[in-house]
Amino acid sequence: MTVFMNIINKEIPADIIYEDDICMAFLDVNPSAPTHVLLIPKKPIKKLSDASPDDQAILGHLMVKVGEITRKLGCEDAFRIVINNGKDAQQTVFHLHLHILADRPFHWPPG
Ligand code: 5GP
Repeated sequence: MTVFMNIINKEIPADIIYEDDICMAFLDVNPSAPTHVLLIPKKPIKKLSDASPDDQAILGHLMVKVGEITRKLGCEDAFRIVINNGKDAQQTVFHLHLHILADRPFHWPPG
């Protein structure tokens, strides 16, 4: 079990900005941008490449919530979504999460 399950279960605190039956969004404790939200499914899918066809509705739900959350934060016109998949891609918490980053300049290609 990861720390994100503890956050879902309200066993450790987090600045929760959105929650429903399927997902939760909260501020990253070590932000990489002035706005840095983590959006996670409540189902503990370890990483994106572990998602199965049964998870299609969950993944779609997360994508739709990105728009809702960024509108709420006022950054809907300029944000970046990052999903680190696997240790060598810098994933450190093995519970699928979308990083929503905003309110700073972005460059391409990403690092
Ligand atoms: P990853 O490197 O796996 O893509 O991202 C994990 C993210 O989770 C990191 O940005 C890290 O700062 C964040 N994080 C790790 N532990 C906690 C925690 O206990 N609370 C919150 N809010 N964020 C966490």
